Amino acid sequence: MNNSQKIRTLSKVIVLGDSGVGKTSLMNQYAYKKFSQQYKATIGADFVTKELQIDDKLITLQIWDTAGQERFRSLGPAFYRGADCCVLVYDVNIHKTFDKLNNWHDEFLHQADLDGSETFPFVLIGNKVDLDGGNSRRVTENKAREWCASRGNIPYFETSAKEGYNVDEAFLCVAKISLDNEHVQDIYFPGISETASEAEQQSRCAC
Ligand code: GDP
Ligand code: MG
Repeated sequence: MNNSQKIRTLSKVIVLGDSGVGKTSLMNQYAYKKFSQQYKATIGADFVTKELQIDDKLITLQIWDTAGQERFRSLGPAFYRGADCCVLVYDVNIHKTFDKLNNWHDEFLHQADLDGSETFPFVLIGNKVDLDGGNSRRVTENKAREWCASRGNIPYFETSAKEGYNVDEAFLCVAKISLDNEHVQDIYFPGISETASEAEQQSRCAC
């Protein structure tokens, strides 16, 4: 089987959490190894993609960003539709962002309209562990792990998007649990030419 015929898995990952916790920064660090102090609301692409190989499987993570709408709770059905994994992010230095995790967790389960909501894969990220050398930290690792246990053993990672600390590890876990998730669809690239699908579309089109 040549490369173009390999079975790839596409996994849609959505990242949720209060505004300012570092969601966009985590994605940029993971996908582009870049960090900026001045992230405005995400403009442009709705998602970043990252391809990785786990054992003999190729997996493309399509990681969706909120483009700042999380402030207004207006993410809309397209954002949640077909999600394979949900990453919840809070800021370890701001307790309120941890308290809001219950809301985000419930909101996701409600909006995503899943069949097996008890088994849906989440990953929790406590971000900005670098801040003030850890002195401004307000949520302990134990407390976060307790929350994860109470919500069905959600995997937990502490990260710094600024320093790139533990970011790859967190998303590797996301990729692995997405692969285990029955919602993931295998997509097959047999090398169909663009022209064939264009021709097909045109034949259905009135013009
Ligand atoms: P979002 O609203 O959740 O997407 O958060 P952003 O990614 O836009 O980050 C909000 C602010 O926090 C920005 O000024 C970032 O530079 C900063 N930030 C994000 N991650 C970290 C981190 O790990 N450490 C520190 N010190 N700052 C961070
Ligand atoms: Mg953002």
